[in-house]
This record gives sequence, C-alpha cells and structure tokens, in this order.
Amino acid sequence: MEQGVLKHRRTTLERAEKFISTIYFTDVNLQGKLYPKKADVKSLTHWAAPNLKDEHLRFEKVVKQKFTPVKVGQQFGPTWATHWFRVDVEVPVEWVGSEVHLRWNSGSEALVYVEGKPRQGLCSEYDRLDYPLSESLQADNRSFTVYIEMACNGMFGAGDNGMIAPPDLNRQFTLSCCEVAVFDRRVYNLIREVELLHDMAKHLPEGSERGYQALYTVNAMINACDVNDPTTFQKCHEISSKFLQQKNGDSQHTTYAMGHAHIDTAWLWPYSETRRKCARSWSCTIRLMEKYPEFTFTCSQAQQLDWLRRDYYDLWCEIKKYAKEGRFIPVGGTWVEMDGLIPGGEACIRQFLLGQNFFAQEFGAPCKEFWLPDTFGYSGQLPQIMRHCGISRFLTQKLSWNLVNKFPHHTFWWEGISGHRVLAHFPPGNDYGMKGKVEEVGLIMLLRSSQNFKDKGRSDKSAFLFGFGDGGNGPSEDMVERLNKMKDIDGLPRVKMSTPDEFFSAVEEEDGGNLCRWTGELYLEMHNGTYTTHARVKKMNRLCEMLLHDVEFVHTVAFIELIAHVYPYGQLPKLWKLLLLNQFHDVLPGSSIGMVYKDAHEHYEEIMTQGNEILAKGFRDVVRKGNFLFPKPGQTKCIIRNNLSFDRTEVIVIETEPSGSGPAKKPAKKRQKRSPQKQAKAQQYNSEGHALYCVNIGSYGYSFLDPVTSIQPAEVQEQDGMYVMKNSLLEAHIDQQGRVVHMYLAGSDRDAVDKEYPANQFVMYDDIPLYWDAWDVMDYHMETRKAVTDVISETEVLDQGPLRVSLKFSLRISDKSRINQQIILDAGSPFLRFNTEVEWYENRRMLKVEFPTSVHAREATYDIQFGHIRRPNHRNTSWDTARFEVCGHKWSDLSEHGFGVAVLNDCKYGHSALDNVLRMSLLRSPKAPDRMADMETHTFSYALMPHAGIRMDPHTLTYALMHHFGTLQEADVNKHAYCLNSPLYTVKIECDLDLPPSTSFFSMSTTQVVLETIKLSQADRGVIVRFYEAHGGTCRATMTTSLRRQITNAVLVDGLELKLKGEEDQVDLTHTENSITFTIKPFQIIAVKLIGF
Ligand SMILES: [Zn+2]
Repeated sequence: MEQGVLKHRRTTLERAEKFISTIYFTDVNLQGKLYPKKADVKSLTHWAAPNLKDEHLRFEKVVKQKFTPVKVGQQFGPTWATHWFRVDVEVPVEWVGSEVHLRWNSGSEALVYVEGKPRQGLCSEYDRLDYPLSESLQADNRSFTVYIEMACNGMFGAGDNGMIAPPDLNRQFTLSCCEVAVFDRRVYNLIREVELLHDMAKHLPEGSERGYQALYTVNAMINACDVNDPTTFQKCHEISSKFLQQKNGDSQHTTYAMGHAHIDTAWLWPYSETRRKCARSWSCTIRLMEKYPEFTFTCSQAQQLDWLRRDYYDLWCEIKKYAKEGRFIPVGGTWVEMDGLIPGGEACIRQFLLGQNFFAQEFGAPCKEFWLPDTFGYSGQLPQIMRHCGISRFLTQKLSWNLVNKFPHHTFWWEGISGHRVLAHFPPGNDYGMKGKVEEVGLIMLLRSSQNFKDKGRSDKSAFLFGFGDGGNGPSEDMVERLNKMKDIDGLPRVKMSTPDEFFSAVEEEDGGNLCRWTGELYLEMHNGTYTTHARVKKMNRLCEMLLHDVEFVHTVAFIELIAHVYPYGQLPKLWKLLLLNQFHDVLPGSSIGMVYKDAHEHYEEIMTQGNEILAKGFRDVVRKGNFLFPKPGQTKCIIRNNLSFDRTEVIVIETEPSGSGPAKKPAKKRQKRSPQKQAKAQQYNSEGHALYCVNIGSYGYSFLDPVTSIQPAEVQEQDGMYVMKNSLLEAHIDQQGRVVHMYLAGSDRDAVDKEYPANQFVMYDDIPLYWDAWDVMDYHMETRKAVTDVISETEVLDQGPLRVSLKFSLRISDKSRINQQIILDAGSPFLRFNTEVEWYENRRMLKVEFPTSVHAREATYDIQFGHIRRPNHRNTSWDTARFEVCGHKWSDLSEHGFGVAVLNDCKYGHSALDNVLRMSLLRSPKAPDRMADMETHTFSYALMPHAGIRMDPHTLTYALMHHFGTLQEADVNKHAYCLNSPLYTVKIECDLDLPPSTSFFSMSTTQVVLETIKLSQADRGVIVRFYEAHGGTCRATMTTSLRRQITNAVLVDGLELKLKGEEDQVDLTHTENSITFTIKPFQIIAVKLIGF
C-alpha cells in the first residue's frame, strides 16, 4: 500500500492547468485529445465581393458568382473587404458515429451559411472556430456544403498597432485553418470538470477546506486518467462527480445568469459592420438555444434588432420564436444604448418612445428594464425619465471603471434630482461580458461576483451577464456548460439561468426595503474627455435636437389651425431615429474611428436638409393659410418666428439683398415716414451690410417685422487702451487680447470679473491620457495650464451701435492653430456674446476658455436634461476631486447670495469649476481611434451673463435691480441659454396683405415652467405638450393657447403617450377651453395630451 503524497498547492494547481492547456504538452495532455482525427476539406473555392458600402449582399446573389479555388495559407484583404468561400466536405467513412466539426480560422470574423441561411458566426479572437456538421455522423450523409462569409476585420476592428489605434486599412488576413475533425465530447466534458476543480482550488479563499478538497480531487482525476485510453475517462468522471454533487446550504448567494452580447452599434468599425456582427452573434445564440433548453439571452438596442429584421429575415424569425418562449429577452427599452449625459432630455424620452414602440410591436410587450451597461456616466435626471417612460429598473456596471473611488453599492435605489427612484443593479462581476478577459469567464467571474458584492446582508442575489461582446459572438458553449455544472456546488454561489425580470422581481419582493439609496447623478470617474471630443458631432447633435423640436411645434400648429394639413408622421420618426442612432455611446461621445463620423455626419446632413425643408413648408402654410394670405409677387413680408416657450425681445439680423431694394428695408421706409427720429435709432446695418432690428416676439409664435423703437442703444468707446461696451443692462471692459477685464451690471459698481485675472481667457493644456485617447482627460492636465496670449490682430471695433456693438480680434495658439473671435453686445441683451472660430490642428492638447469671477460660492450649477445639478467647486474629498471635469448642457453658473455669473453656450458639454473660476472645455485633439478627430475649423458661441436679479420688462426694456433676487432662477439664466441656442428665425414670404399679425400660439404663466415639446401623439393625433419645472421649486403654472380650436379635455400621459394613472391628484390638472393649469414639483416632467383639437 503506497503512502499518500503530501501535496504542494502550487505544483498541483499547475499540474492541473497543464493537463488542459491549449499551449503546453498538447501531445500528451487531455486537451490534445479533443480532436483525435482531422482531414482536409474536399474543395475550397472563393469569390471576392466588391466593396459596396452599406449594401447587404443577399446570399442568392452570392451563389451565382464565379468561385475559384484557393488554399489554406492564402491571405485575404484588405481591411473591411468581404470574401465568400464555398467549402465542400466529404467526411471519411471511418468517422461514422462520431461528432464532426468543420474548423475554420481566417484570423477574422466570419458567418457560416447552410442551405442559403445564416447558421453561425465564427471569430478567431475568442477561438470560436468550430461549426458542428453532425452530432453523430451517418454513413449515408457524409457530404456537406457550406458557404462562409469572411469579414476582413477582427472583433475590435483593425487597429494598427493596438486595439484603439486607427484602423490599418491594408491589413491582410490569413486563412490558417479549414478542415474537418472528430470532436470527442467525452474529452470535452472531462476538460470542463478539470477546469472547474482547478479554478475552485485556485480561487476559493486560501486555506478554505473546500479549496483543498477540489485540489486533491483534480489531482486524483489526473492520476486516474490515461489520455490514450478512453476507458479510463469514466473513472475520472466518477471522482469529480462525487465532489461536484456536494450541495450548498440555504444561505448561499444566488447568481442570476443571463447570456448577453454587448455589441457596440459603431465603434472601431462602422455601422454597416455592426449589422453583420449582430447576425454573427445572434445566430450563435440561436444554436445554443437549440441545444440548451434553459439557456437565456438578453438583447438590447431596438436599432440592432431592426437591422437584423431587414437584413436577415430568416434569423429574425428564429429570434422571434425564442422570444415567444421567453428565452431571447429584449431589454433596455431604448432605440440604442445611448450616451447617458449629452443627449437632451427630449431625445432621452424619444430613445424610449421609439425603442419601446419597436419592442411592443415586434415582441408583444415593452421592456421592463433600462439597460446601459457601457455608457460613460448617468445623468441625475435619468431616474425620472425612466419612470416617465414606464420603467423602474436599471442595469449598468460601468461605474466599476471609476479611477479613484469605489462605488459603494451593487443593488440600490437610485434617486434622481426630482426625487423619482428606480431600482438599480450593477452586476458585481463588474463586467457585461468579457472584453479581453477570456481567462475570467465562468468560475473566476462568478466567485468575484459574489465576493465583490457590496450589499451583502441587504440582498443575497446578483445578476451575471455572460458572453463575449462585439464580434465575440456572445455566450459560448463552454460558458453554458460551466454554468450548468455550477448550479449548486458547495463553496460556490448558486447559479440560476434566469431573466432580468426574475432577478429584479426577486430583489423587489425580498430585499427592496433593505436597500440603500444613492441620490443624484452616477458620475463615471473616467472618460470625461468625451464631453468634448469630436466637437462638430456635439454641435450637430444640439442643432438637430433643436430642429426636430421646431418641426414638431410648427406642424402641430399647422395640424390644428389648417384644414387637411398632413403632419409629417412618415418623416419625423425616420429623422429622429437617425439622431438617436448617432447618440450611441461611442458615437456622440467621440470615441469611434473616423469612418463612423463620415456616416454620422451624413445622418446629420439628412436630418438638417429634410428637417429644414418640412419646417419651412409647415411654417409657410401656417402663416399663409392661417391668415388667408396668398402669394403675390413683389409683396414680400418678413416674418420672425420664436420656437421657445418664452417671450423674447432681441436684436435680429435680416440679410439684405444686394440690389439695395431688398425686402428687409421696406418696413423701415414705411416706419420712417411716421417717426423718423426714433427709427434712426432703431435700425442699423452691420459690418456685413445686413440690416439689424430689435424685435419683440411672443412665446411659440411669430410676428411680421415690427421693430421695437423705444430702445436704449448699445455703445462702444475706447477708454484708457480698452474698449468699453455698454447697453442698458451691462458694461464690459475689453482689453487688446479680447479679454473681459471688468464687467458691471448697470447701476452697480460690483465687478463680476476677478480683480487679478481677466475673463474670456483662452488657455491650453497638455492632454495626454494614460491609454483611452479620445475618452480621457486626466487630472494632471490641470497642472499644464498655458494662457493663450499671442495676439495676431488686436481688438478693434466692428459694429458701433445703436442696436449692436461688436469687437473682433485674433490670437495665435500655435503655428497651425488660431482663434478669431467677435465679442457682441446687443441693445437690451443681458449677456455678452462671443462668436468664436477656431482653426484647430493640434496634437494631444486641449483648449478651454476661463472666466475668473468675483463670486464666492461652494458649488457650481450646471444645466442638464430637464433641470440642473449642483456640484462642488472645491476638492474636499476624493469624490469632489475626481469630478474635475463634468458634463453640463446649455449653461453653467456660479452664484452667491444676490449675485452670480453664468456662462451660456450653444454646443459645448465639458465644464469645470474650481473656486471662483468657471472653465468651459472647447476642443481636444486625441489621435485614437480617429487620427483626424477635431482637425478642422470650428465655430461656436458662448456668452457671459452676470446677474443680480435684473428683471427686464420685455415691452419697454426697462430694468430694475432687485438685490434680494439675485439667483440664477430669478435672472432667467435658463431662458437666456435657450435663446442663445434657438435664434429667432426669419423668413420672407410673398403675400398680398399688409396687416401685420402677431401670434403667440402657446404661452406660459411663468418662465419657471418650460414648455419643452409640442407634438402630435403617435397614436391618435391628440396634441402632446411636455413641460418641466426648471428652477427647482414647486409651483402652479398655466399654459394658454391662442389656437382656433378649443381644448375639450386634458389628460396626463407618460413618455410613451399613454394615460397616466395615479398622479392626477398631485398634479391637480384642470383645463378651460384655451388653457391648462397644473401643479409641478421641482424638476418634474409632466406630459399632457390635449384633446379636442
Ligand atoms: Zn459599448
């Protein structure tokens, strides 16, 4: 009798590892016996597809092409090309009864077609190389023909020297394997058992008895196994079974496992490749579903499913079959997994509206969970937006990427700025699939999941998303086998193949009352350069959001006011979908390759062109038909439209026709007869020869040009080497470099600008991140500040008043880059505007503009979706410090009691505030994954707005200083930021009437409540009006319409335009024939369907 050998932990572990290694000792280990027999295919022929962008090649077309012989070892390319192969197989008769696989490795992604239908994806990176031809080969069925579509890209694109590097466009891919092989399933099962025992021995807490039991069991298995004698395999299996059958106690944590494939809708590859990635991934999923009846799979992003429906109808039908069984589970509810910070509030709602429409229509029900695992931070208004759209559950994991602070929860109540709550879960594996961490699949992840779990004691369950993302084709057979084996093994969390609904329901029912709460945004301490990268995409996003808003407003009015007006029901969803698609979490943030932006800008172009066309047509109809005007050549009226829910008095520019007898001058001439003196004051031609007027337009309305004449002029004069710009509200002192040295509110000697440092100071920073080039701006960039002071042309006067004064100057950033700026002050304007042009050709440098103020405050305030958020402007804690660069929308503000300074912008999202200085991030210059990111000329506007509770009377343009009303709310910072973003729109219309009507279709009793959206409901042509409370305080507000038809009923609805139940009491909605009145809480979103129109 031999004595037991004392085991050394490390050597025993490594022995087990080598026994199933795919690299070492494969000639004598178990892994080496997985494919005991191999043979060449009978024939291999090939056809290179022409490069047809965005055209999905139909199989029927492909098979008609001329295929020519090729050999294993040949190369195919270049990057992004498509190659088709026909593979004919004649399996040797000796293999009858065996499981036979076709093995394929083209160093790329590929899709197997059988009998004309897509069957299964292949991907070299994660060794998905097998396509099973037969589970048990029949003697009379040994011939097979398959087609393989090879895509010349890897799962992460084709980065030249590194994953996120721009693609190498000339890469060749080698076909290194095309063969048939016997697959020995007994060996495969033993490998899974050895792996499981090895992983338990290695990863259970050191010193745990269970770990040692696993170690000794795996050692005994190897001792019993003769890899050349399959009759020994049964004995090995019996040894492991004895161990694996030992069960857990009742208290064990439960892991709700769900298959998933996080497919980026575009990233290191273009949109068109994603369409194919989906087919490759989900065909793999369907094959697994056929084999494993318990296997479930969660799938987000309506857009991707919609692409599949169009491109791969056979596969789509298979998916719908499994969806009906509740195993292929649509999740998320949104059109794409969008960025969580930059999209506007209304766009976020549309993500749900169009997404849930699709899910309900195609799968019979909307999704129950919002699913955003990979997005770079989550707005504090998302909980309410979710609730508004009928969703109360949220899943992500991205905050595990935090660089500094560990987020303290995995399961918790997330409460937004409005007080609305959702149940949030971060799968504690801190991953949504295995990106580059193949060794972590399965057991290690599972252990890490339960060990990481931060809410132990409050909850004993967590979700586990398994599957390779992007081109990795989702869950693999190995993963499903592992999880099946781990259902209930003593020492490991229980594994339950599950659904998100089952998981969240269990948490809600059993743990909901125990959970902690997190209030406010979920800030990701990483990727904060994405608020700035690809500036033009951000600008187009903002413009297109505004444009679609305007289209909906105008056509809703047209629908109500005119007989038989056709609302653009067909075009609007199409344009919205393009905009929503570009809000994907690698497109809008600026972290995709250059090819993606070519597509993205084509989408924006389409939205702008078509959107403007339907807008112009709708508005012409409203004005002409609504006033019974008819075209009359020569009689051109100039009409100004206000697309906002605020009354406005502003200076506008009307392009004057070169002939000199242009229409813009006509109203002026008429008026001159009546009051020549005033008119002389009230009209001006700017430096480009265009006419300026000051006009007064009601909210959501229009007016014929009817200039305001009683207006205090704007002036500019030189004084002690500086220019002093002045209107009735402001006085700004500008130096030769275009910097604001002093700024006063009229009637006050309080300087808004810091004593020592001027505002509107451009500053450059080194911007070299650790790895994620387009994504990250690092904290150390702040130590490299360099002021831009190299003057090309000093400040000079451009416009002299009385309606507009302006200055211009130019600065040199470097030999390649420069700034040209105009500083503008209009009569009656509460802000100083900066129209900026930057020629930008830098390398890993960042441009900001800074505004040192005289304000003493502990927090800065930032505009976000449907509200605002306060963040510290100091660095007390590591959480404060880590938020050195933050996302804001149309304005940021620093306020003390009675006085504040706001910075407004028309397309920027990156901000920072430290002590008394507000900074806005203007441009970055990362080189990966897009070498050309931001290398062009950019134009944008921003404005500086000090406030001390100035209240303007919009009609007389008088003002009053109210020192005790100095808040940003009282000063209407939000309103003025909207105005900067939505210039009054001017159009010339030929008509035969001289009567100048002016109309405000919708008006609000207070600027505290913004009427954000006016649209027709998708279902029944009711008018949907959506409001939000913008100041952070409860109030009662009235909306009045001047529309011809009357309101007969007003119903509260949600974001999906369905009748809301249960909130009527709080809102206390009442209506008359032309108004509705309701109570609205801080930052609340309320949508009302008006019936009767
Ligand atoms: Zn992603």
